[in-house]
Amino acid sequence: RSKQQGGNRVTFFSMEMNEQAMVRLELESYLRKALHKEEFYLCYQPLIDLESGNLYGSEALIRWNHPKLGLVSPGEFIPLAEETGLIEEIGSWVLRTACKQNMRWQTLGYDSLSISVNVSAYQFQQPGFLKEVKKALELSGMEPQYLTLELTESTMLRNVEYSIQVIQALQALGVKVSIDDFGTGYSSLSYLKDLPINTLKIDRSFINNLRLNTSDIAIVKAIITMGHGLAVKVVAEGVETKEQIELLKELKCHYAQGFYIHKPLMTTEFEEGLSKKVQMYS
Ligand code: C2E
Ligand code: MG
Ligand code: MG
Ligand code: MG
Repeated sequence: RSKQQGGNRVTFFSMEMNEQAMVRLELESYLRKALHKEEFYLCYQPLIDLESGNLYGSEALIRWNHPKLGLVSPGEFIPLAEETGLIEEIGSWVLRTACKQNMRWQTLGYDSLSISVNVSAYQFQQPGFLKEVKKALELSGMEPQYLTLELTESTMLRNVEYSIQVIQALQALGVKVSIDDFGTGYSSLSYLKDLPINTLKIDRSFINNLRLNTSDIAIVKAIITMGHGLAVKVVAEGVETKEQIELLKELKCHYAQGFYIHKPLMTTEFEEGLSKKVQMYS
């Protein structure tokens, strides 16, 4: 009987494995076709200048709408796109689309709007990466100063020497570089003085629970102070309450982004906001 149970368990286990592998394979084959089938689109989440209250720009966030699966979150498919190398093509599409869109808004009269684009580790390490950035600028006609590339600490720390070279080349081009999800990485701060970055983006895990008299406020305060000392801009992501935005203003954080200000918006929604000239937060 116990043998049978064991047998059953083995069968069950391998079936489960198969199912997982199937799901992955299926997802991968869908992902391969998604670009050509035009299943991707970008949302744009506003970034606010905390001192003036003005719109500073937006972060482009990819969305995948599959006819059978529905909306698949980037947290799910970006890692798969990385593992399969598909991120190279997807990443180029994101860069080009985001630059074109932002340039369109600039020509509509919002001439100093910035655009932030997430770059994954694999994409950053490709030999053709710089060329791709140049190409996106060329095709859109947007000036490089309006483009910010968001890299995570782990991306940059994979190969510090190489990262410094690429980031220096980006700076020479006039493109800005931001450290995304700051504070969640290896937290070795020594690399900060070697990396010529423009912005630190405080991870939303520190912002989500930000209230007076919490340890999070001590951490956020320290990051902002460090940003001022290093002459880099500091962005807070994941701002969800009025209290948080007030605290961040007091702490002299430069920019903020989050559901309290706006969720990621479809292009048309973003445009409506622009044309109504609505104050993006109150
Ligand atoms: P991220 O770059 O840190 O982007 C911020 C994420 O936080 C977004 O999730 C955004 O929707 C979410 N968010 C914004 N405000 C709030 C808030 O107030 N509260 C909460 N709880 N969440 C907030 P999303 O769009 O699901 O993207 C997840 C991650 O996927 C991104 O994190 C980024 O690492 C990656 N990603 C998204 N688009 C791209 C892309 O085009 N290329 C690459 N390589 N990665 C991307
Ligand atoms: Mg980001
Ligand atoms: Mg982030
Ligand atoms: Mg994140």
